Amino acid sequence: MQKIQMTTPLVEMDGDEMTRILWADIKDMLILPFVDLKTEYYDLGLPHRDETRDQVTIDSAEATKKYGVAVKCATITPNAQRMTEYNLHEMWKSPNGTIRAMLDGTVFRAPILVKGVHPTVRTWEKPITIARHAYGDVYRNTEIKVPGAGKAELVFTGEDGQEIRQTVFQFKGPGILQGVHNLDASIASFAHACFQYALSVKQDLWFSTKDTISKTYDHNFKDIFQEIYDKDYKAAFEAAGIEYFYTLIDDAVARVVRSKGGFIWACKNYDGDVMSDMVATAFGSLAMMTSVLVSPDGKFEYEAAHGTVTRHYYRHLKGEETSTNPVATIFAWSGALRKRGELDHLPDLCAFADKLEKATIDTIESGVMTKDLALLWEGECTAINSKQFLQAIADRLN
Ligand code: NAP
Ligand code: MG
Repeated sequence: MQKIQMTTPLVEMDGDEMTRILWADIKDMLILPFVDLKTEYYDLGLPHRDETRDQVTIDSAEATKKYGVAVKCATITPNAQRMTEYNLHEMWKSPNGTIRAMLDGTVFRAPILVKGVHPTVRTWEKPITIARHAYGDVYRNTEIKVPGAGKAELVFTGEDGQEIRQTVFQFKGPGILQGVHNLDASIASFAHACFQYALSVKQDLWFSTKDTISKTYDHNFKDIFQEIYDKDYKAAFEAAGIEYFYTLIDDAVARVVRSKGGFIWACKNYDGDVMSDMVATAFGSLAMMTSVLVSPDGKFEYEAAHGTVTRHYYRHLKGEETSTNPVATIFAWSGALRKRGELDHLPDLCAFADKLEKATIDTIESGVMTKDLALLWEGECTAINSKQFLQAIADRLN
């Protein structure tokens, strides 16, 4: 059989623990037999990040800027315990944080649906993707515990000496006080990433804030989105037959629960934090959640939303079999290969990505799956280990 050809390399970011093992198996069993795989390989496994003093993470983000599409394995974010476990030189920052900052990107999280695992919300038939703004608001706040009576003011002092001053509240007794901020540039990047992503997956984009109450702060988000939409994306949305829709957060919540799914919901930082946990849980399992980082200039990095599954890895090291779910990591690969195919006009590569996803879903829907899914499954099924599951998918692909 002739293998499918690629023209531009994918940026491949290898990772840690159980997902690193799955990574190699997915490549060997599901991709290399079919695709003449071209990647530029970066080892983001913790030992190599430490050896390179984290330079490899920066290099991999630069490569993503250069080539446009990356696929990433889950990685350890070191804490005190990892410092000893890996004898690290430093407590390196989260690679995802470093890459997100360098690409100025927004993270989109979407569940993978299979028949047999039903969302808790009965009307949901298609995935709901949450786009969370990743800068500012309450995550960069300044807080004061007000000790007693006194006046709280909001003061802005411009570099040109201009002063803007407003009374927040005249306290008569103790209380609390909080200052938050955001940046037009960051909101604009978020908006571009959302519009780009909606176009790339051809789904409607919803955006919600509380602009009726927050008439300046939240309203600024709404205005920036609308301006950018009208100027840069309206025509493309109409051509693609998709819609941009702004509504109040309360209305959005009610509509989401009544909806069939199949759209992107852009949320401010706090709303996105809370709503992504709600949506993920209602869809079923973290092991079935994909994650894509999209930069405002249209660079894409695909990964699974879960971590390195440490508990399973320690069992693996003891020689025990594990039934770790590889689906989100497989979909990270298929997403990246499809995007590469679209950008390079390689229909065979796009078709392979579709087949790989279909073989994975069909395998599960035939009742063959890993243990975590078997626990959620309604009806008869066979729970097998990771390797056997990958083999079942490979058989179907063949
Ligand atoms: P985790 O790796 O997502 O695993 C938490 C638990 O969820 C697992 O113990 C397992 O439950 C279940 N689970 C997650 N993914 C699964 C899968 N594919 N198949 C089956 N079960 C799965 O989170 P964590 O244990 O909190 O974090 C482990 C490491 O991952 C940490 O070092 C953290 O820094 C890192 N992390 C990385 C990323 C990333 O790179 N994007 C994201 C999150 C965390 P059972 O043990 O009950 O089976
Ligand atoms: Mg959260």
